[in-house]
Amino acid sequence: MQEYKQMSEYNEGQIYKEHYSVVVIGGGPAGLGAGFEAKKNGADSVLIIERDIVLGGILNQCIHAGFGLHEFKQELTGPEYAERFISFVSAEDIDIMLNSTVINLSEDRKVTVVGPSGLKIIQADAVVLAMGCRERTAGAIALKGYRPSGVFSAGMAQRLMNIDGYCVGKEVVIYGSGDIGLIMARRMALEGAKVKAVVEIMPFSSGLRRNIAQCLEDYDIPLYLSHNISAVHGKDRVTGVTISQIDSSFKEIEGTQKEFSCDTVLLSVGLIPENELSLKAGVPLNKITSGAIVDSTMQTELEGVFACGNVLHVHDIVDFVTRESRVAGKNAALFSKGLLNKQKSEIKTAPKKGVRYILPNKILTQNPDGAGLFMRVDAIYNNAKIRVSSGDKVLKEKRMKQMIPSEMINIPLKFDDLKDLTEDITAEVVLNG
Ligand SMILES: Cc1cc2nc3c(=O)[nH]c(=O)nc-3n(C[C@H](O)[C@H](O)[C@H](O)COP(=O)(O)OP(=O)(O)OC[C@H]3O[C@@H](n4cnc5c(N)ncnc54)[C@H](O)[C@@H]3O)c2cc1C
Repeated sequence: MQEYKQMSEYNEGQIYKEHYSVVVIGGGPAGLGAGFEAKKNGADSVLIIERDIVLGGILNQCIHAGFGLHEFKQELTGPEYAERFISFVSAEDIDIMLNSTVINLSEDRKVTVVGPSGLKIIQADAVVLAMGCRERTAGAIALKGYRPSGVFSAGMAQRLMNIDGYCVGKEVVIYGSGDIGLIMARRMALEGAKVKAVVEIMPFSSGLRRNIAQCLEDYDIPLYLSHNISAVHGKDRVTGVTISQIDSSFKEIEGTQKEFSCDTVLLSVGLIPENELSLKAGVPLNKITSGAIVDSTMQTELEGVFACGNVLHVHDIVDFVTRESRVAGKNAALFSKGLLNKQKSEIKTAPKKGVRYILPNKILTQNPDGAGLFMRVDAIYNNAKIRVSSGDKVLKEKRMKQMIPSEMINIPLKFDDLKDLTEDITAEVVLNG
């Protein structure tokens, strides 16, 4: 494990300051990337605050391979990917507060943090929000039945298994086919558990295609699309579930019920960006992504506050988190030095037919070195194109064999693409084009 400055150093006040040029909230891949880039781009002082006792965020529990294919052209495990960024950050003069939770952020960028040494208020010239996201729970989806033990969110089960060393069950049904659910189906199978079914309400999986192949098909784990868990059985401990086929309006179809006995149900039913702090500070959020509204510098609508990673929108791969974090970190540094372009001629982005959302929400035409456009489609499209336009002018087209909602699409934009534009930038799916 990489050595970095220990909490005790900060508690003794040797390093801790009351004012920093850039404060990064969250020490996952987004926060590490942003902190590193802020320092590289001239921020006088950078502080990363992390509530866990180690840096790395969710990557620490993702012990499977599949990280870093874009960034490092290598297939790394989550901890290996995190380790690279921890070493980058450790090599710089960047302060780190571990075991410390930010409990408030004010409009004028005062960061209130609680840790082993008590409560501190730190003034930041610029703040980067990098708090990641949390899992939806049984309550959030109104799971039917009593509340027996044996119902876990998939990420919690992953942490219990991969970090704390507990096996959470022997006979498992997984609800939701998001990536965490798929990865956990394989993980449980590798531990000798019988994974009886993955149940998905949508007619398509919400996980990456490679995870369907590598985590379900390779282990003969059945995926029930357009099905729900209509009841969880058991009072003290889960004893089984009933699943039902559902129609296009999510109504259960009579006579399609199936019973599975099991002692464990894992929920992989969605992630929610952790934006409570952003809301307290008055950062406006986007209804579809549940993350901040940002421009191409990753600045939110609250001046001097930037956002990147899963707190901005839920990502499929960490490489895109890193790409975004670079833009946020660099521009936070420029802001702290009064150098961020204050150009007002921004162009909005707007999703059109087939596209659920586009980020950033606004493009500053003189600041084109962003991470490009990130978008997700709203359904599965085969042999179709994504067309990015401004009015009648087509800026980019990307043909894809298949587009699915679970996979983010990244379209780079350059200054030459943007100059002289006056109309909104839109993205749409073009069929048979
Ligand atoms: C099960 C699973 C499998 C995955 N598999 C892959 C894969 O194979 N390949 C791939 O590329 N990607 C994968 N990903 C996606 C990738 O791991 C995430 O996109 C990435 O980790 C998100 O980074 P982040 O920094 O935004 O969030 P996180 O990693 O969640 O980090 C956020 C950090 O902020 C801290 N924090 C939150 N609130 C506060 C606060 N108030 N004060 C202080 N600290 C705070 C948290 O403790 C956390 O450490 C997977 C994700 C999961 C969950």
